[in-house]
Amino acid sequence: MAIWDFDYTSVSAVKSMLSENTLSMTKKFGQNFLINDQALNKITELSTAKKGDKVWEVGPGFGALTKKLIQTGANVTAFEIDHGFCKVLREQAFVDQENFTLIEGDALKNWKEIFEKEGTPDVICANLPYNVGSIFIASLIENRCIAPIMVFTLQSEVVSRICAQIGDEDYSGFSLLTNVDYTCKEALRLKSGNFFPPPNVDSSVVIMTKRDKSLIEEPDALAFFPLVRVLFSQRRKTVKNNLKALKKSSQEIDEALQKAGISQTERAEKLTIEQIVSLERALR
Ligand code: SAM
Repeated sequence: MAIWDFDYTSVSAVKSMLSENTLSMTKKFGQNFLINDQALNKITELSTAKKGDKVWEVGPGFGALTKKLIQTGANVTAFEIDHGFCKVLREQAFVDQENFTLIEGDALKNWKEIFEKEGTPDVICANLPYNVGSIFIASLIENRCIAPIMVFTLQSEVVSRICAQIGDEDYSGFSLLTNVDYTCKEALRLKSGNFFPPPNVDSSVVIMTKRDKSLIEEPDALAFFPLVRVLFSQRRKTVKNNLKALKKSSQEIDEALQKAGISQTERAEKLTIEQIVSLERALR
């Protein structure tokens, strides 16, 4: 059966589709459809998805990006929380598409089960809902689901944090997390008018390319990521103060900081990944 011939770039077509299916857009799910065909093509190209690749998409909506990914010949697994959209995807958009699998429900809850069953995908590509974006990316990395290529459309400020390097104004615990396994680059800026309905802020597309070698050794990963969370838990506090949450004695903390060559008055955003690894080993 031919793939669905729906004009994803037409706001009136989207509105008719919604009303025919008695559906509405929900703010709480960050539903802003990308209606620029060139941008959709560019994102698909950046994903490098090709025939036979295992590709994950979070939040297909009606399937604007999904359709392009399916057309590359990749095997697309899409996670969608909105049951109304799921019905359209299942019954109209991609009926009989052998290389399309829909996982209905909350991606934040469901992705691990698919990861356990099928392993790491080759590509993750999504126009991420604003309220889920950074949580989803952090969860993938902390649980060691490190896809070779990830391409995400997110609010521009989140992309700035993903790409920030130590010393940059936007650098945070999240930047550190994304830098451990990936080199990250903003590839495209999209004004809010490229979406329906237009969001309040501009968006950017980020490409995250897996490093040849992670900046941490796998055995360190288990304790490294929880330690990063502790270190960055209160931005204004010193590393030493944040470490108090670990319920270790002051002496143990001082000794570990000294072993790792970290001053007691240092703040987390000044620490290199190597220093945090040393600290984690010293605390063990
Ligand atoms: N992919 C479409 C596009 O690019 O036009 C829609 C993207 S829209 C920004 C985000 C999509 O994610 C919506 O379809 C929304 O229902 C879905 N979504 C929101 N939270 C979700 C979650 N926790 N799990 C799965 N899908 C979610």
